[in-house]
Amino acid sequence: MTPLDTVSATDAGLAGTRLADSGLADAGLTHEHHADSHLTDAAIAREEAHAAHNYLPLPIVVESGDGAWVTAVDGRRYLDCLAAYSAVNFGHSNPVLLDAAREQLGRITLTSRAFHNDRLGPFVEALAALAGKDMVLPMNTGAEAVESGIKVARAWGYRVKGVADGMANIVVADGNFHGRTISIVSFSDDASARDGFGPFTPGFRSVPYGDAAALEAAIDENTVAVLLEPIQGEAGIIVPPASYLPAVRDICTAHSVLMIADEIQSGLGRTGTTFACDRVGVVPDLYLLGKALGGGIVPVSAVVGNADILGVLRPGEHGSTFGGNPLAAAVGSAVVAMLATGEYQRLADDRGALLAARLQALLGHGVVAVRTAGLWAGIDIDPALASGRAVCERLMQRGVLAKDTHGSTIRLAPPLVVSAEDLDWAVDQLAAVLEELGAK
Ligand SMILES: *Cc1c(COP(=O)(O)O)cnc(C)c1O
Repeated sequence: MTPLDTVSATDAGLAGTRLADSGLADAGLTHEHHADSHLTDAAIAREEAHAAHNYLPLPIVVESGDGAWVTAVDGRRYLDCLAAYSAVNFGHSNPVLLDAAREQLGRITLTSRAFHNDRLGPFVEALAALAGKDMVLPMNTGAEAVESGIKVARAWGYRVKGVADGMANIVVADGNFHGRTISIVSFSDDASARDGFGPFTPGFRSVPYGDAAALEAAIDENTVAVLLEPIQGEAGIIVPPASYLPAVRDICTAHSVLMIADEIQSGLGRTGTTFACDRVGVVPDLYLLGKALGGGIVPVSAVVGNADILGVLRPGEHGSTFGGNPLAAAVGSAVVAMLATGEYQRLADDRGALLAARLQALLGHGVVAVRTAGLWAGIDIDPALASGRAVCERLMQRGVLAKDTHGSTIRLAPPLVVSAEDLDWAVDQLAAVLEELGAK
């Protein structure tokens, strides 16, 4: 599963014209009719007829991609300013990553962990070194990394901290997004993620994000972990006060509680550092990684920590058929090698400074707030002007792909390889859309 695709009831776009409902692809409401728009319409109708409707995508059908750009079936090109929620940090069809994948495809792709494979060792060694830790638990999707982190924290609590069996609790933050499994949505406060999916998994308590005192007050002798996004992505790129994560680190140490940083979206270069925690000099006990770890090619996730914690898992207690497979490990190794140079972190920092400066200039011109961290931006559109969805639809007409979140916020997270010129152009399109909508 992939992240939130929330649609507010007031959204005027496709929400009222589900293709399946109309029986006919009526995309003309949301994007200009093009000579080849029937290709788009037919492709969407086919998908809508048989794919579960758990997403409400923009009416564009992508068929290829290169760097920060994608090409749709109607031949139009779009600048991808979502990058698959940061899973495509290194760009579409990245030649280094494709070579690593192709080379491994010709050897072997899956062995299961019933046997060793020759790619897993180099991968976990390099990833542990990148994170400054000594052990890696390889999984596939982000949600699996989160679930695995929760299991590790509970087992650590019982076996090392000495919590009474069945009593462990984990403190999380309001507004969190950690994935879509039952246990994970059990501690979400987003009604659309939870409603209709109970009963829920007990053992979690949620406190306001950014408030270290509230977090400390929620900790008791049965608390085994604090699980946080160092920057909340799906919530709209919410950057906590600079003192928050250092305070959480101190509180966790003082109470013998594991600090688990969900860096699935914020990590691996996006914020201008390898991990978002690096921005404030914080080292969590466990990193949860995913998304960009698979280079946009295969799902690869991991829990990364030291052996005194990850070592609590014994043979047979946890696993995954595909976890640590040779193809994933080969691509993951290539991703880690790219990050080890620091080049992509510098790109995020450099392009991010440009993006932040351009977006700040839109404040008061249809934009009510801007939050950035590296090449990652949450932009609150004046709700009187338009919904985030409506802005994204108009951006799409102008060749820019972006994603709304929570009503009137849009988020930008282009591949880190986007050129300064293209990024500048994308902000020009946003400014033009806001002007079209009547912003001053
Ligand atoms: C995307 C995301 C997840 C879930 O990852 P999936 O691969 O979609 O399961 C978990 N945590 C955060 C912070 C995310 O952004």
